[in-house]
Amino acid sequence: MKIYAENISKEYTRHRRSFTAVEPAVIEISGGLTVILGKSGSGKTTLLNILAGLLAPNTGSVKYDTADIYALSDRELSDFRSRHIGYIPQGHSLVGSLTVEENILLPAALAGEPQKEYAQTLIEELGLGELKNAYPKELSGGEIRRAAIARALINSPDVIFADEPTNDLDDENTRQVFGLLKKAAEQGKTVIAVTHDSSAADYADNVYRMDAGVLTKEEGHKREIA
Ligand code: ADP
Ligand code: MG
Repeated sequence: MKIYAENISKEYTRHRRSFTAVEPAVIEISGGLTVILGKSGSGKTTLLNILAGLLAPNTGSVKYDTADIYALSDRELSDFRSRHIGYIPQGHSLVGSLTVEENILLPAALAGEPQKEYAQTLIEELGLGELKNAYPKELSGGEIRRAAIARALINSPDVIFADEPTNDLDDENTRQVFGLLKKAAEQGKTVIAVTHDSSAADYADNVYRMDAGVLTKEEGHKREIA
């Protein structure tokens, strides 16, 4: 699925003063793993949420193939998101009162499509077999991220968004998480991750940089995996 965002920008107002968090940007993504690098506060989460259908921009449009997602009604957009988009939010986003397996199944339950078998497949693929009945507070940071990735995959989305997916992970877990995102991209999903971790560029097919709200594409980026 091809994503084309044209002229998207976002202003916020704080203490009655407005400032531009995302300067007018163009981004075209058709498959692969795209990494958007930038410092904290540079506008990455804002941009990601605009692309993911979670935050309407002040200007411009976001198209998935030919569908202009912000021209849809709220209901249509939420249907579209649950069918086509998986989202890995920043931080520890699992529901504390649910087991790993229940967390993974949650988006499927919300879509009215129990996916018990596929959940087992994902649990095995992501190395969570021993942990499926564990609760989030019993997991390490890396295990929590892997469960969040499985949860983003459960409805077989075309596109996956990840916000700082390796925040506070050690090198080994960081490699594992980007390796999994890369694998999802190789299996045909469009994956978009924003991060301040420049090692992510090693896994990416396309790299963008975000600096004080200004998005630029790193031309000639070539993937080099160690
Ligand atoms: P990043 O993810 O790169 O850290 P964000 O997109 O979260 O950046 O934020 C960009 C800028 O916009 C920051 O200065 C942040 O404080 C500000 N900001 C983010 N969300 C809001 C909001 N809802 N209202 C006002 N300002 C916001
Ligand atoms: Mg952020």
